[in-house]
Amino acid sequence: MVDSNRRLVLASRPHGAPTPDNFRLETALRPQPAEGQVLLQTIWLSLDPYMRGRMSDGPSYAAPVQIGDVMTAEVVARVIASRAPGLAEGDLVLARTGWQEWAVAEAKQVRKLPDTGASASTALGVLGMPGMTAWAGLHNIGQPKPGETVAVAAASGPVGSMVGQIAKLRGARAVGIAGGPDKCAYVRDTLGFDDCIDHRDPAMAEQLKAACPSGIDVYYENVGGAVWSAVFPLLNTFARVPVCGLVANYNMTELPPGPDRSVGLMRAVLTKRLRIQGFIVWDYAAQEQDFLHEAGAWLRDGKIKHREDVTDGLEHAPEAFIGMLTGANFGKTLVRVSPE
Ligand code: NDP
Repeated sequence: MVDSNRRLVLASRPHGAPTPDNFRLETALRPQPAEGQVLLQTIWLSLDPYMRGRMSDGPSYAAPVQIGDVMTAEVVARVIASRAPGLAEGDLVLARTGWQEWAVAEAKQVRKLPDTGASASTALGVLGMPGMTAWAGLHNIGQPKPGETVAVAAASGPVGSMVGQIAKLRGARAVGIAGGPDKCAYVRDTLGFDDCIDHRDPAMAEQLKAACPSGIDVYYENVGGAVWSAVFPLLNTFARVPVCGLVANYNMTELPPGPDRSVGLMRAVLTKRLRIQGFIVWDYAAQEQDFLHEAGAWLRDGKIKHREDVTDGLEHAPEAFIGMLTGANFGKTLVRVSPE
């Protein structure tokens, strides 16, 4: 089709883990921009765990994607035609135009990429929403002090890798938890965490205890599940727990069996004076410039490292997304939809 637009829509809602047939690849006509709008060609599509929540219609902090609608996502795109002042053909922008090759957007809903000197894709990872999430959760809730122990899971991913590296820059010890020996080696040797534990090892809880001889002062919660059970007894008095994500639970269809643990949890909250606080990154939107300033300098100076896991072709986005939810990714999950 001349001037076509391939897009991935939500075909059905998953029960448990998403499957490829929850998505449908469609070909439509490429849209045309009206006054005040721009025509965008997607270059980088960001795949993030929160999208699993948007596929379901249960109560959440954000509205679900409707059946038949384009899957939601933040992208880096190029302006191909502009009918809006301030945006010109060739500009690279951040937009929320979803899993598709082409889109029109209101100029006021896109943002020119800040000039960080880094590659454009970093605006979706280390210098984008995931990096900001790590920075804001630690800065506002975790508040690590020199010498304290900070633990974080999904430690090789875009959020967890930043959490541990920022903890180190703030003078704390960083202990990562990741899936498999390769990810753990990367977290220790390349990212510079003090230790990293493989959550797939049956001895994970004992290993975590040995890696945290002074207990845990900040547990940055990305996953929940068995990792949380291993961390909980190690929390120190006055520990802080920024609750960022619970990816181990996102595909859950029913509560796990076993005793109700809320009594023990609430007793520990009281006696250890734990601070457990959930947050959504944009609660701290007013701090974004501070984040960009600090993290941009760290990246330029080589003080933080990051890794991207790139899949080529929009049509492969579903499998990359499904895999990410269970750890098939190694680094920030991106789809290269068109060449930069
Ligand atoms: P990642 O790229 O790290 O991908 C998710 C990772 O979770 C997988 O790679 C896997 O890593 C790990 N994982 C999956 N299942 C389990 C499990 N059962 N036990 C332990 N680890 C598991 O994701 P992000 O860095 O983008 O996001 C990390 C978390 O932060 C997510 O929970 C996400 O929802 C949350 N988030 C929250 C935001 C907010 O505003 N509150 C904003 C952005 C992200 P491995 O192979 O190492 O196990």
